[in-house]
Amino acid sequence: MIPQLLQGLFGGWGTAAQPNGLQSSGQKILVAQAYQAQEAPENGANAAVFRHPAAQRQVMLGGVLVGYALQRVRRRSIGFVVDGQGLTVRAPAGVALAEIERALHGKAGWIVRKLHEVRLLQQHREAGRIVWAHGAQLPYLGAPLRLQLGATPGARVRLVECGDERALQLALPHEAAAQQARAQVQAWFQRQARSHFTARLEYFAPQLEVRWQRLSLSSARTRWGSASADGSIRLNWRLLHYAPALIDYVVVHELSHLREMNHSPRFWCTVEGVLPDYATRRRQLRAQPAPLWD
Ligand SMILES: [Zn+2]
Repeated sequence: MIPQLLQGLFGGWGTAAQPNGLQSSGQKILVAQAYQAQEAPENGANAAVFRHPAAQRQVMLGGVLVGYALQRVRRRSIGFVVDGQGLTVRAPAGVALAEIERALHGKAGWIVRKLHEVRLLQQHREAGRIVWAHGAQLPYLGAPLRLQLGATPGARVRLVECGDERALQLALPHEAAAQQARAQVQAWFQRQARSHFTARLEYFAPQLEVRWQRLSLSSARTRWGSASADGSIRLNWRLLHYAPALIDYVVVHELSHLREMNHSPRFWCTVEGVLPDYATRRRQLRAQPAPLWD
């Protein structure tokens, strides 16, 4: 009965469910959790499953089946990383699997919460994938912008406003490839980004009593900006998807680094001095993933 139950719970897990990969203590934990799932079918039936593509091992954490990648590393303690792929456990070479399992159960709440958060963010991103065709929409300065193809080739890319509707006219025929549309929009976004950011840097720098020297654009997936002690500011052109108030938060954040090169309480006081509601803006920015461009 126990093997059957395990089979049912772990079926479809490929190599991760290989019994020879599990130490006895690990098996005991799995069996105990399997019984629990049977006694509470409402949990068992809806049990969430998270599996790292490189998972060699698995564990039940609070009713959630987690397949994780175990890396043996030169370090002193056991560490956990949750990213878009799933859970990675980094453990010193000499640490027994039983100890790793104990550490996993000790951190179960945090791990499961992070896994859910990351999955939700990915689902939002997937839904927000931009379609590069006539009539498609993408967010620009926090509001929808519709793409229009069919203008005379060689014409300039133009932003046109018609009532509340805004459209971006691309200099491409209707049947243009998605790649071409994407390239034109990206070039336009980058031009707009440069002028928008420059205006906001010039607006906020005197308030913070700082001087910035150079603006460069970045396009990293996970970083909105950075500042160097020499006065260089780097801002991500993808920020142009967001409402101006949220872009302002990033501009003020980076300018404030020219006063405080850290995230100390003094740094946050500097930000707050210019944007008293910075915490709300920061939360909103984090809650809205930028749409995918490809
Ligand atoms: Zn910072």
